[in-house]
Amino acid sequence: MALKGAIVVDTEKCKGCGICESNCPTKTIGISTEVNGKGYPFAYMANPDACTGCTNCATVCPDSVITVYRVKI
Ligand code: SF4
Ligand code: SF4
Repeated sequence: MALKGAIVVDTEKCKGCGICESNCPTKTIGISTEVNGKGYPFAYMANPDACTGCTNCATVCPDSVITVYRVKI
């Protein structure tokens, strides 16, 4: 049994700082080329199969806008 992760970003609260992206050990996260309602790009799962659910991204996000889910596969 293995664990796989997934993240959900509150895109309207994300400011696109990229701290989550640079702290993801599996390079799961990318920063969008689109912008949210405030004009900021936002984090998203650019490589969704790679997420392990380690929670690093949620821990480092200064605005706490990432929720991490883990599922058994
Ligand atoms: S660290 Fe948080 S605010 Fe910064 S890009 Fe990632 S999700 Fe957005
Ligand atoms: S939970 Fe871990 S592997 Fe998944 S996106 Fe966040 S930092 Fe990357």
